[in-house]
Amino acid sequence: MSAQGMTFCFMASDRGNILVFDDGNERAAIVTGDLILFGEDMVLQARRLSEHVSQAYLRELEEVNPVSLTIDADYPGGNIVVEKIQGDTVYLRQDLRDTEGWWFYWNFRVRGAAGRTLKFEFTNGNPIGVRGPAVSTDGGTTWSWLGAEAVEGASFAYAFAKDAEDVRFCLGMAYQEADLQRFLKRYADNPHLSVKELCKTRKGRVVERLHAGKLDGQPRHRVLLTVRHHACEMMASYVLEGVLEAILADTDDGRWFRKNLELMAIPFVDKDGVEDGDQGKNRRPHDHNRDYFGQSIYPSVRAIKDLIPKWSEGRLRFALDMHCPGIRGKYHETILFPERLEGKENWQRLMVFLRMLEHVQAGPLVFNLEDSLSFTSWDGSTRNRDDDPPRTFSRWVRTIPGVFFSAVVEIPYANASGQAVTAETARAFGHDLARAMRKYLESLE
Ligand SMILES: [Zn+2]
Repeated sequence: MSAQGMTFCFMASDRGNILVFDDGNERAAIVTGDLILFGEDMVLQARRLSEHVSQAYLRELEEVNPVSLTIDADYPGGNIVVEKIQGDTVYLRQDLRDTEGWWFYWNFRVRGAAGRTLKFEFTNGNPIGVRGPAVSTDGGTTWSWLGAEAVEGASFAYAFAKDAEDVRFCLGMAYQEADLQRFLKRYADNPHLSVKELCKTRKGRVVERLHAGKLDGQPRHRVLLTVRHHACEMMASYVLEGVLEAILADTDDGRWFRKNLELMAIPFVDKDGVEDGDQGKNRRPHDHNRDYFGQSIYPSVRAIKDLIPKWSEGRLRFALDMHCPGIRGKYHETILFPERLEGKENWQRLMVFLRMLEHVQAGPLVFNLEDSLSFTSWDGSTRNRDDDPPRTFSRWVRTIPGVFFSAVVEIPYANASGQAVTAETARAFGHDLARAMRKYLESLE
């Protein structure tokens, strides 16, 4: 055993409620409670306790114990490949994994960059959205857009605060199981919201199904919402929160819903993809939203196909499948119901709903029927796909007896006709959707 550690003669000084030991020989330690910290850990702790450590002494500690820059994605939703770090420039790219073709989801964490300004340069296309990256300084709980000013081509720059410890950057405002749990906690004792298990994923995770509204006795109507058929499309999750808030709210609408409607929501159809930080979109051999025809390969899709026809009992009136589109371009920056070519009768009923939505909406994100109608298809083709096999959720669900219509709704990642899409504005759009739901269901009576 080395005797080194035993021969130091530390000078102890009491700096507030911590003790700093300094051996006068460029070695130091901080004792807080039962912890004795050296090196990087000590510097990080000294920063946390910076009101008790003089700035000059903190700088000394930092000089002797440089904190190394680490970039990782080792947490739920994380996704990044770091290629190299050269000076203050980090070269990285989104991890495509089993994605067919190019996609744009990424989500990474930076530690040990306090006080530095770093440039993050993407090397596989430009996967940065139109309001720059979303940034979180609280471990992914809340997010804000950094802004387009920070972006140059496929790179963005960020000035880390002097006390920055853990800063996350993401294509959008990441929404994971932990976020759903936080939301559900608000309603823990509410008899009008219950959480059940739809199934387990291939990796053993629980796929939740939420039931909200009238949960005792027969509801007059049922409605189904599905989210994250494509794992990365997180902004739609905030819209779902908004719909649930409206159903559970102490308002006239809320009371009406709790008397007349049972809503089922599947918040993470591709739960493994969401938690693993996959793109999910265009997953090989096909993604979750292309798994509804024939023998389904994903447990959650099998469970949906098994459960929903039974649960409906002829009362499932409509279903909405919530998505996010691409990251830039006219139709990627517009709230869109892109199914006009698919099913004439379905489309006419959807139009009734959409006119109601346009009429009752009150939030900052505005749905414009005319803009939505001008859309034909993502590839510009105007072929009517009615005769194609019903591979997608929305095509499949409308084959259930009693269903009036089903549709996909596309919530842009960052910009909706000039308005910023955020957790808050997306929730407000969820409230608007709920208002339209009530109007539509009342019109059936
Ligand atoms: Zn999608």
